[in-house]
Amino acid sequence: MKRVSVRRSPIHGKGVFALCPLSRGERVFEYRGLVTSWQEASRHYARRDEENHTFLFGLSDGRVIDGGRGGNGARWLNHACTANCEAVEEGGRVYIEAIRNIAPGEELFIDYALEVPSKTKSLSEYVCRCGTRRCRGTMLGRAWRDRVRAIDRSA
Ligand SMILES: [Zn+2]
Repeated sequence: MKRVSVRRSPIHGKGVFALCPLSRGERVFEYRGLVTSWQEASRHYARRDEENHTFLFGLSDGRVIDGGRGGNGARWLNHACTANCEAVEEGGRVYIEAIRNIAPGEELFIDYALEVPSKTKSLSEYVCRCGTRRCRGTMLGRAWRDRVRAIDRSA
């Protein structure tokens, strides 16, 4: 039985929504896509003249899963600073799991904690508009946020 569907999101573009109750700890689906290097993915999207890096999911070994190529509905997961799902890496694959009980109709979110290539110039490209109470104002992960801030300060 299908547990989630993709449709328009009030937050941003398309989103993923629960069709049935999901339990805390439940594995919802896999984040599928082409496994490649950051470099190759950057080249691929540079040629297309679009910055679609939010389809790229960083793996711990430095490679990325490109949900924009061979991906499934998981690539439409939106970011929220207080997320109800998390990404779990296991054997070079990434699974999306619920971190609390989710009711039918709720949108699923993960905290992107974005990793961005070194050419990043400004925090403003990664502004978060999730609207949750504890919104930290950016989709970047802590390490990258500090690094970008450091770059901004030295500029
Ligand atoms: Zn936020």
